[in-house]
Amino acid sequence: MSTHVLIFPLPMQGPVNCVLKLAELLCISGISVTVLNTDHIQRNLLRHTNVLSRFSRYPNFHFQTISDGLPDDHPRSTARYNEVFEGMKTVTEPAFRDMMVSGCFSCKSDSPVTVVIPDGLFSFALDVAEEIQIPLIYFETVSPCALWTYLCLPKLIGAGEVPFNGIDLDVLIKNVPGTEAFLRRRDLPGFYRYDNLTNPVMQIIMNEARQVPRAHGVILNTFEALDASILDQIRSLCPNIYCIGPLHTLLKSRLPKSTQHNVSNSLWTENRDCLSWLDTQLPKSVVYVSIGSMATMTVDQFVEIWHGLVNSGYPFLFVKRPGSVTGDYDESKVPGNLVGETNRRGFITTWVPQEEVLAHSAIGGFLTHSGWNSTVESMVEGVPMICWPLKVDQNVNSRFVSEVWKIGIDIKDTCDRFVVEKAVKDVLDVRRSEFFRSTKVVAEAGAKSVSENGSSWMDLNRLVEDLKSNDF
Ligand code: UDP
Repeated sequence: MSTHVLIFPLPMQGPVNCVLKLAELLCISGISVTVLNTDHIQRNLLRHTNVLSRFSRYPNFHFQTISDGLPDDHPRSTARYNEVFEGMKTVTEPAFRDMMVSGCFSCKSDSPVTVVIPDGLFSFALDVAEEIQIPLIYFETVSPCALWTYLCLPKLIGAGEVPFNGIDLDVLIKNVPGTEAFLRRRDLPGFYRYDNLTNPVMQIIMNEARQVPRAHGVILNTFEALDASILDQIRSLCPNIYCIGPLHTLLKSRLPKSTQHNVSNSLWTENRDCLSWLDTQLPKSVVYVSIGSMATMTVDQFVEIWHGLVNSGYPFLFVKRPGSVTGDYDESKVPGNLVGETNRRGFITTWVPQEEVLAHSAIGGFLTHSGWNSTVESMVEGVPMICWPLKVDQNVNSRFVSEVWKIGIDIKDTCDRFVVEKAVKDVLDVRRSEFFRSTKVVAEAGAKSVSENGSSWMDLNRLVEDLKSNDF
């Protein structure tokens, strides 16, 4: 029977981006792939990218769609993510089961699905895969360090360390093995701060912690040299892990040069003028600012960050996604004269080609919400980070950026113009040479891992072999 993999991403920019890269890598290796997107994601993907023409090179690739149960005009932002999970539970879960049991994926591809690769949050998918007796490998698009805090959740609850009701945030955590020296309450995923365990997100993470170790394997967007000690911890519960990151550079290493430049999977229109603007700036002088595809900030937070950037004296490129600033946005509160033709110090736009922006020689630092994809993309380019984490895995990632990899500054739980100004000056000036050295080490290790016979290169080969032999 020929190999046919069904990949089912979480309906968010970061996971969709990763999944399409994995899909392309598997197609190149001769595996048939169906990517199952929600209707909403698929519409935006087709509207803003050339994904169909890009994948038309692979006759073994297909898209399939499924409803997320929400009306078209729902914002699907992190602020309302409970509704997204509710829609998934009531509509997507049963529809997914029906599709799998009826085998309807084989109508597009010429073969039935032989392996399922859903997002790690889709714990229901394992029950379905077991019901129809096909192997399942989870694709964890969060960081290994965040995944480890998820897998430790039962232990944390058992020891009474979680929940902690948002108090005494500097207390060190004892029950996430390997992190005892530096992981504080405030560095745990945001929802661990809730005062009870009945919150829907806690339930989802509890299910994930129960199901992921039962899968046939786990795919991670990391590389051995970056996360060796955390990966050893994860292996104690999930022995079969495939570390194939940085995924976007692994894909580039396997694509012909002529097709490497255009692998955008953006759900918004990318402003490419920002690249010409960057061309006019001095090397390593610009701060790039983005809080990713889902997170939001209040107007007051926006104004504080803006003032901090302006006061630092450095130019900045600011991504202000539609809907990312909540509350009444009052232009007069923002020092607007720094944007536009007359003063070229700030460039503000709604969405950029981030991988290309981070690769630009003018970028000297990244003020980021510490989403895992943004973190990895920054590492690859050797760009030091100012981490302002907001939700989910971001609190953990930012702590690892500052304390483990030492490639940036973590300003979590503050939003103050003076803190932002100081952090920008530290990264671009005061601590510049220190960060230059540490980011270079990480970037070089990442590049080595995806080169021929590097750890990620080899893990992808192992994944392809295992998928083809269907022997886990
Ligand atoms: N991104 C982009 N353009 C932007 C902002 C973000 O292409 O203007 C991409 C970025 O390259 C990354 C993804 O959006 O791949 C964001 O993923 P991440 O995991 O960092 O954060 P999330 O959006 O999931 O919170």
